[in-house]
Amino acid sequence: MSRDRAELGLPWTHVDDHYLDGRWTPSTGEARTPVVDPATEEAWGSVPDATPEDVEVAMAAADRAFRSGPWPRLSAAERADHLRRVADELEKRAEELALTISRENGTPLSESRGAAGNAAGIFRWFAGIAGHLDADDVRPFPAMAGSESVVRRDPVGVCVLIAPWNFPINLVAIKLAPALLAGCTVVVKPASPTPLSIRFVVEAVEAAGVPAGVVNLLTGSGAVGDALVRHPLTAKVAFTGSTPVGRKIAAACGELLRPVTLELGGKSSAVVLPDADLDAMSDVLIRSSMRNTGQTCYISTRILAPTERYDEVVDMVTRTISAGRQGDPLDDDTVFGPVATKAQYDSVLDHLESARQEGARATTGGRARDGNGYFVEPTVLADVTPDMRVAREEIFGPVITVLRYDGIDEAVALANDTGFGLGGLVFSSDPRAAQQVAERMDTGSVGINFFASNHSAPFGGRHDSGLGVEYGLEGLAAYVTYKSIHRRTPNEEYR
Ligand code: NAP
Ligand code: MG
Repeated sequence: MSRDRAELGLPWTHVDDHYLDGRWTPSTGEARTPVVDPATEEAWGSVPDATPEDVEVAMAAADRAFRSGPWPRLSAAERADHLRRVADELEKRAEELALTISRENGTPLSESRGAAGNAAGIFRWFAGIAGHLDADDVRPFPAMAGSESVVRRDPVGVCVLIAPWNFPINLVAIKLAPALLAGCTVVVKPASPTPLSIRFVVEAVEAAGVPAGVVNLLTGSGAVGDALVRHPLTAKVAFTGSTPVGRKIAAACGELLRPVTLELGGKSSAVVLPDADLDAMSDVLIRSSMRNTGQTCYISTRILAPTERYDEVVDMVTRTISAGRQGDPLDDDTVFGPVATKAQYDSVLDHLESARQEGARATTGGRARDGNGYFVEPTVLADVTPDMRVAREEIFGPVITVLRYDGIDEAVALANDTGFGLGGLVFSSDPRAAQQVAERMDTGSVGINFFASNHSAPFGGRHDSGLGVEYGLEGLAAYVTYKSIHRRTPNEEYR
């Protein structure tokens, strides 16, 4: 690897504590999990696995802070001031945070350098909608003069936030910011491959003056996540991760009648209409179809090309992907890094083997790269048919498939035939035609000629891609519970 890891001087490497009730607190157990640099396979850090006692301490602290601490009793405007300070504190830590993420999961620095700013933007956006919670929401009865209801948005309680490893800060921020704004308290469980970067968020929360017990952090395996999901003091679960784990969490929450938000896997399609501008598509392709070395939930890794332009589309996609440099995630000009873990590397290679056996053709890449690290060559698969595994399953690695279609109806049918419904794209020079196809796609979000998430618009998946949404006022709603107080006297007398 070209960058010397010994000189990075990162503050968090081997740690033995969780963040409980406002203090870094040693774990009560001995078991530990290593943190592995996927570019070098070196175990450069380690964290403790939370014990059942650690889980109890975290949950009790969050429960106490919710029931008797100051946080839920502040106005939303006061909590918003804390959120803005969290944003400022995060930005102060941007470079160390970026380097830590890149060492944990191999995200190229060009991407991870945006993590602090992106999370800060989320905290500031939610701070900006505090008025929605503080506003006096009084609604007259439609047919009962002199009577009214005041609608309260109370914080739902102790929230368990469980995150995956691909965007370990952003996917916590999008839960933490609305939870805190609403007045909830939380216990965060990061993914095992990325347990250190989240500590910068905890530091920012502490530096911003958020009271003890409001934010707690536990590291450990899925068993710790499961214990938190089922804990009697948990009021709500917010999860981003794989569909199989999401189903288990939904089953547990169903039994317990516990509200849950699930942001799960995807297999999104980019429909290339016959009039698409392929040069313009090339400019956004890496971002929209292979962001973070293909480890982004909503990217459109399944490209649907009209038969008459199939070869042209395959050529453009192949040229664009093969021009992106793969290398050390810590080099500034790296576009593609390794995949994040050995398990993910094995899974991606298994998908490539299935593609070979089922008759797909790699026009670039298609193999593991020699040497250390979990590097899979950025790959474009042509001659992919809808029944192949690589056309149906989420690969979550640097692999794009290109399928052919005849006629718009077939394109829409193919796009809607994966079982998932998370992202999607339409490429066209005709805004009306593009809009029509976008409206027919059975998915939570769809972009026209580009894709990005908008803090003010709900983001979520349909079908196997999840339940509920994040971002926007709709995302805040997941952390409140409504109460309607019906009363006869005019509003003023109740102040
Ligand atoms: P994962 O294996 O489902 O794990 C996600 C989190 O759940 C981790 O913190 C994991 O802990 C924990 N966990 C595992 N088993 C659990 C259980 N039984 N109960 C409670 N928690 C449990 O997912 P991943 O491999 O980290 O991430 C990749 C997946 O995330 C992909 O499928 C991707 O599409 C999806 N994703 C979705 C979105 C979205 O917004 N829709 C965004 C990003 C990623 P351990 O790490 O310790 O196992
Ligand atoms: Mg996993």
